[in-house]
Amino acid sequence: MTEFTPPTHPDPGSQGSLTAPTTLMHGSSVQPPDHPVPLHIPHRSRDVAAADWLGFPAPIPDRWAQVAVSKGFRIDRRIRDRYHVALTCQTCGGQTASKVYTLMTAEPRCGACAERRIRDLAKAAGVEFLVRDPEDHVYGWFRAPCGHELRRQFELIERAAAGICGVRCETCHAAREAEEAEAQGWTLIGPDPSGDRNYRIYRHGCRQEQRIARANMQTGRLDCGGCGESWASKPSNIYLARIDLPASGLRVLKLGYSSNPKHRFRYQLGLPRDAEVELLRLLPMPTGHAACAEERRANTRLAKRYPDAVIPVDAYAGEINVVSEIYCPTLLPVLHKVLDGIEARINPSGANSHADPGSDMPDGGEDDDPAHGPDGGNDGRSGNSTTPS
Ligand SMILES: [Zn+2]
Ligand SMILES: [Zn+2]
Ligand SMILES: [Zn+2]
Repeated sequence: MTEFTPPTHPDPGSQGSLTAPTTLMHGSSVQPPDHPVPLHIPHRSRDVAAADWLGFPAPIPDRWAQVAVSKGFRIDRRIRDRYHVALTCQTCGGQTASKVYTLMTAEPRCGACAERRIRDLAKAAGVEFLVRDPEDHVYGWFRAPCGHELRRQFELIERAAAGICGVRCETCHAAREAEEAEAQGWTLIGPDPSGDRNYRIYRHGCRQEQRIARANMQTGRLDCGGCGESWASKPSNIYLARIDLPASGLRVLKLGYSSNPKHRFRYQLGLPRDAEVELLRLLPMPTGHAACAEERRANTRLAKRYPDAVIPVDAYAGEINVVSEIYCPTLLPVLHKVLDGIEARINPSGANSHADPGSDMPDGGEDDDPAHGPDGGNDGRSGNSTTPS
């Protein structure tokens, strides 16, 4: 059981930072002092104290009783004053307070049925309904799977239950965004002042504050206007990874580049939670620009020369958030060979290189054939000695 703490800032506009109110802990119902069945209260009467929903000693006119039955209820008793009745729902047996006027001229709603519907919708939306918001009847409090309490419009929960949108926990999401920025050497300051949801304000390590697209923060493709550090000039890596996708049973290889490959696998590829990623090889590159150029060149050639080893997008759509550069595991020796070639080009002295110097001359690299010598004994290699930062 989570203990509720009263909101420290009763600001109805803010979301995510407050906890659900302690009032109305039983949703929309109160416990009448003289009756065992909880009484659901329409939102317009929720400021009336529970003690005021006492029985009102007067007979129930036949006409009222007939109308109630025709609308799916039974009048249990008169309550509060001569204008109110307690209706018993013929569907669920729950009791709801109603004005006689509403009963006679409109369709009274069963508060118990409505609340059950909210609980069901919340469950379908992946959250747990806690209470209605006493300040605003279109809002309720819900507990997200992470444990945080969220204030949301019921209408949003309804759309989330239908799969149209999600219910995101801002607290957790903000933490994730802050982490993304930190990984790139920036600090998340806040939302875009002009309200563009794709942009944020970040502060670089050099104190420069800048408006940057979140997508660029995720990929690290951003330049600092203060110190001039650019993604293109920052060190990067070319990586070779093996990805296991349990849902489709696929095992694939990915050749890509990133200044922070682990981060890329965690946040940017949209991999399912149960996906397993093994970084097979990491080739440090002096700049993002060089990494990008080499990776693009390698992938273009691989697609041209080994079309059968390129896994069609349809096979992993929805599991990996890229549209190319995904290969069959049988291409592993070739991919190692390609990386050997890049390594030799980047580091021509070859001090740390495993490449066969004859296979890819630094100056003749344009036509190097990654297929050359696929059985060259590279299978067992599981990474080089350089540790990523
Ligand atoms: Zn009902
Ligand atoms: Zn959360
Ligand atoms: Zn800077």
